[in-house]
Amino acid sequence: MGKRYYCDYCDKSFADNSENRKKHLNGVVHDRLRKLHYSQFREPEEILSEERAKFPCVKIKQSGFCPFEGNCRFSHLTPEWERELLEKIEAKKLAAKAAEDQAANRPEPNLADWLDKRKKKDNASSTSEGADPSGGSAALQHMQFSLPPELQNIPDLPPSMIPPTGDCFAETAEWGL
Ligand SMILES: [Zn+2]
Ligand SMILES: [Zn+2]
Repeated sequence: MGKRYYCDYCDKSFADNSENRKKHLNGVVHDRLRKLHYSQFREPEEILSEERAKFPCVKIKQSGFCPFEGNCRFSHLTPEWERELLEKIEAKKLAAKAAEDQAANRPEPNLADWLDKRKKKDNASSTSEGADPSGGSAALQHMQFSLPPELQNIPDLPPSMIPPTGDCFAETAEWGL
């Protein structure tokens, strides 16, 4: 069995050669199914205005059936379809409005608020034990360091374990000097 060409739109396969492909891709059924596939991704406003711009299809009006289906150059818009499209448009508007409201209610990022928050965080960490690694030297100067209770009675602690005093941070080296 040779290679086969599978058409997603038509859910159909056939022996793959240029003649078959050409015949299939230019066929009425393929064209209709392809258009039908893409029509589901079209915006309801677009469909509605396009259908409204066309003359109503007499065949659909008389019998409810038209052999041209989606390819008919006359409008197949029924009251039900029109209502469905209008509902979709309305739902889209509501969703857009809700997203807009949500964006409007979100507070703008504000530098003063951020600095205020950081200050509170610094204050909180300086009253608790330990250093805040994100604090600057000014903040470190006001911090109190103390040994954990289990180390307090050990004599001759190595210097690296002795709690720093605020003075340690008074002078900061300036890069490049
Ligand atoms: Zn096809
Ligand atoms: Zn028609």
